[in-house]
Amino acid sequence: MSKKVAVVTGANKGIGLAIVKGLCKAGFKGDILLTARNEKLGQEAIAGLQAEGCKNVIFHQLDICNQGSSLKLKKFLEEKYGGLDVLVNNAGMAFKNSATEPFGEQAEVTMRTNFWGTLWVCHALLPILRPNARVVNVSSFVSKKSIDQCNPELQAKFRNKDLSEEELCLLMGEFVHAAQTGDHTAQGWPNTAYGTTKIGVTVLSKIQARVFSETRPGDGILLNACCPGMVRTDMAGQNASKSPEEGAETPVYLAMLPEGAKEPHGQLVWDKTVQEW
Ligand code: NDP
Repeated sequence: MSKKVAVVTGANKGIGLAIVKGLCKAGFKGDILLTARNEKLGQEAIAGLQAEGCKNVIFHQLDICNQGSSLKLKKFLEEKYGGLDVLVNNAGMAFKNSATEPFGEQAEVTMRTNFWGTLWVCHALLPILRPNARVVNVSSFVSKKSIDQCNPELQAKFRNKDLSEEELCLLMGEFVHAAQTGDHTAQGWPNTAYGTTKIGVTVLSKIQARVFSETRPGDGILLNACCPGMVRTDMAGQNASKSPEEGAETPVYLAMLPEGAKEPHGQLVWDKTVQEW
């Protein structure tokens, strides 16, 4: 049997780095690919983890906004491992509250990383998932807060159980367009770029889970979105309540759901608990 392999995106620092460490400490049996867009930062992170006793961590470059980069990783996984067992889509970004870029620009840039980047990684890597694979899309509780701030029509669209990936992509595009023309609140969108991108990540996870249930029903694949909580990282600052290790607990729990587990699947999970959507 081929060796097992896990991939964590945006893992040179913050929650991603803590997820790699968490997988290692939880006894993931196989290689853990710490991926980062910056090779030097990724290699430095690997050196730190190896010094802490995590021997099964390997670096691979991945810029989630570069589709060619995802395809290179796919080729590497196919050639070296013959598939993929765990994918944690952690990489993400947010503008600071003090950012001076116009809202439309913030919406476009944040959407590109958090939604489109995550989607492109999934398009490359979901087709090579092995039976019993686990996928964790790091979203946020802000996605729940933000969907509740959408007008009823948008809420109904996002909560429609038959929404397709294509329809979701169109909605994300409509938000960015409305943000650029200054019409987003008039059209019923929340006044948050980050929050809307994370609605996209949570809803995408529900769609992907449904598609796996339909297309690979006997394969035991479990795919969920999660929130790590408020975590002390460069993104959230040092006043947040959780350490990166604590923030990694739920993503690691979902990535390590035992073989034979039937749930959670297609859920938004935080503090290891399924949340109402
Ligand atoms: P950080 O800013 O500390 O880390 C973000 C990571 O994502 C970095 O490694 C960064 O790389 C990477 N990244 C950004 N863009 C890309 C890209 N195009 N390709 C590859 N990697 C990229 O953030 P956190 O650790 O706090 O956040 C991790 C995830 O958790 C995010 O998805 C975030 O939205 C989510 N989250 C965080 C919360 C918090 O309180 N911290 C709360 C809820 C959700 P680089 O160093 O090169 O910039």
